Amino acid sequence: MHKVKFQNRRIMSLVGVHFYMLFHFLFWYVFGVKIWGKTAMMGVPSLLAGHINAAAIMIVLIIISVLLYGRAFCGWACHLRGAIEFSDWIMRKLNISGYQKIREKNILFNTSFRWLFRSIIFFVLLLPVISYWIRREYSFYFDIQSPSPMADLPGNNNLLFSAHSPFNMQLAGNGFAILDFIIPFMAGIFIVFVMTFVFNYFYGQGAFCRILCPYTILLVPFMNISPWQKKITRVSNCTGCRACSNNCPQGIDVSREIYHYDGKVINKECIKCYHCVDVCSYQTITDSKQKASPQTKPISSYEKTPWLNSQKHLQVIEPLHPVFDFISMIVAFVCGTITSRLGGFWFYVGAIGGYIIFRKLISLILTEEARPSQIPRQEKEKEVSKLAG
Ligand code: SF4
Ligand code: SF4
Ligand code: SF4
Repeated sequence: MHKVKFQNRRIMSLVGVHFYMLFHFLFWYVFGVKIWGKTAMMGVPSLLAGHINAAAIMIVLIIISVLLYGRAFCGWACHLRGAIEFSDWIMRKLNISGYQKIREKNILFNTSFRWLFRSIIFFVLLLPVISYWIRREYSFYFDIQSPSPMADLPGNNNLLFSAHSPFNMQLAGNGFAILDFIIPFMAGIFIVFVMTFVFNYFYGQGAFCRILCPYTILLVPFMNISPWQKKITRVSNCTGCRACSNNCPQGIDVSREIYHYDGKVINKECIKCYHCVDVCSYQTITDSKQKASPQTKPISSYEKTPWLNSQKHLQVIEPLHPVFDFISMIVAFVCGTITSRLGGFWFYVGAIGGYIIFRKLISLILTEEARPSQIPRQEKEKEVSKLAG
């Protein structure tokens, strides 16, 4: 059963990551086995501050893996991607009508400002490092156990953020207060809910990965530089049926990429989810570092219209109107700055909340004609083909 082969394995991997996290927490906090420490968000600040700990080592390993396998970490081992795909599954199971519609057509919204958004969030991720530098506490040390698994999660040590965060909020006062537990717990749930359900619902599956995730800033520069990297590769003649392109959750036009780039998907947004491989009934593509087999049958429509205008490296349905992108970015930044007075974590809440609410309001106010185009890619391509004769 070729069709679901990779998806079953991938889901097992993403579920496995969550079990790993659970065991990690249990071993650290319940059984006191502190073999390794935090292995996610604190890795970047740790590395930049010269603190070689488990989190920093994990970041280095992930970057090395990109050289060999591309962003396979994203597709197979990122816990957030697991949560994003879980929310996608739940919304489809619940048959949420608005979502089913955009999901069936694989409508994926994107924005030409996505790198700016990612950079802003990356900057927030670096705030602890900036804080080290300002306090002149920058120092190199090696400690595999540090920081603890919960270091950057709300509620750790009764602080809203890690002890090194430049912004913070003391949760526990004198004595037990139920709110001190509820606030960080609800804050955590809320932010994950926004990153998964809300973003998927409004902007298509995996929108957080396509628009906001700051880790892409670290991963993308290492794509396409290693000759040993595996890429989605053509191994037999492609029919141009476009099933792969229409099913890519990252909005990559797979069939055109392999047609125009020596049989390889070179797009840096590819997360190696293998949806394209699974849906290709002709078994034309696979993940390989070998040279692609030649395309002997030309696909005339691809020659006439090599690509959809300037979206060559964005390759999504239709970017939102740049004016609205720009204004909503400012709104997000202002909202985030205001809420960050409660602590660095709240920057995310304010920025994402402000962004969504602003855009919702704008779309309610605008007339139908003035709205940014939301034509699905297939229809858009038909139009372009017609124009090209
Ligand atoms: S883009 Fe970010 S959130 Fe998405 S899978 Fe990759 S690391 Fe995880
Ligand atoms: S090109 Fe294929 S493997 Fe890469 S993200 Fe798209 S569907 Fe997944
Ligand atoms: S790679 Fe496969 S699914 Fe994609 S267009 Fe070619 S034949 Fe169709």
